[in-house]
Amino acid sequence: THFGYKTVDKDNKASMVAGVFHSVAAKYDLMNDLLSMGIHRIWKRFTIDCSGVRAGHRVLDLAGGTGDLAAKFSRLVGEKGQVVLADINDSMLKVGRDKLRDKGIVGNVDYVQANAECLPFPDNHFDLITIAFGLRNVTDKDKALASMFRVLKPGGRLLVLEFSKPEIEALSKAYDLYSFHVLPKVGQLVVGDAESYKYLAESIRMHPDQDTLKGMMEEVGFEQVTYHNLTGGIVALHRGFKF
Ligand code: SAM
Repeated sequence: THFGYKTVDKDNKASMVAGVFHSVAAKYDLMNDLLSMGIHRIWKRFTIDCSGVRAGHRVLDLAGGTGDLAAKFSRLVGEKGQVVLADINDSMLKVGRDKLRDKGIVGNVDYVQANAECLPFPDNHFDLITIAFGLRNVTDKDKALASMFRVLKPGGRLLVLEFSKPEIEALSKAYDLYSFHVLPKVGQLVVGDAESYKYLAESIRMHPDQDTLKGMMEEVGFEQVTYHNLTGGIVALHRGFKF
């Protein structure tokens, strides 16, 4: 199949990721709640709590998809602030835009179709950048991190919320069983697409672990980089500053 993840080269990864998110966009929120048993809401709440966001801030929610974080930031930055929801995928962006508009969130949110590897924003522009469950899907992660560093203001911070490496071996085994056996089955049942959820499981396993990602952030210039494990390290929140 076209999602044979292990065999795809770099050029194909981008089109494969596009296929996955076009396919799941309409049911993305439902699947998030089902597959994480609602826990993704807690991970996102923790991210907001660590954001230091204030009224008037300019926030980039990168790979923002259906806009869970952007919706919360919109309220926090107020009418003098600005939130940019950026995503490479127009299907995901459209679902996000419709959802936020339905909630009456208008005025301070802009929607931009953009690749994280080459962000179309000026240098030193944002107070805060978040990328939640997005970095894993980006082909050239170092390039993307460097691009985020460039558009961040001095004093600004980056938060990367992403699947990571479980701290305990037993949890890791159980989680592997879950992601390789349960995820594709639920994907087949609800979205009629097992392959996209096989991709999800593979991409989680291949993603750099906590310390590797910390090193990658430092390599492009981020300082005071720390991470916090959530749900036993199934997910980690990395934070770094640009000074
Ligand atoms: N941030 C949202 C959340 O936490 O619910 C959506 C996460 S979703 C799993 C991953 C998103 O990353 C998708 O919407 C996908 O289109 C986007 N994405 C993948 N590659 C990207 C890239 N190179 N640049 C920007 N967005 C990308």
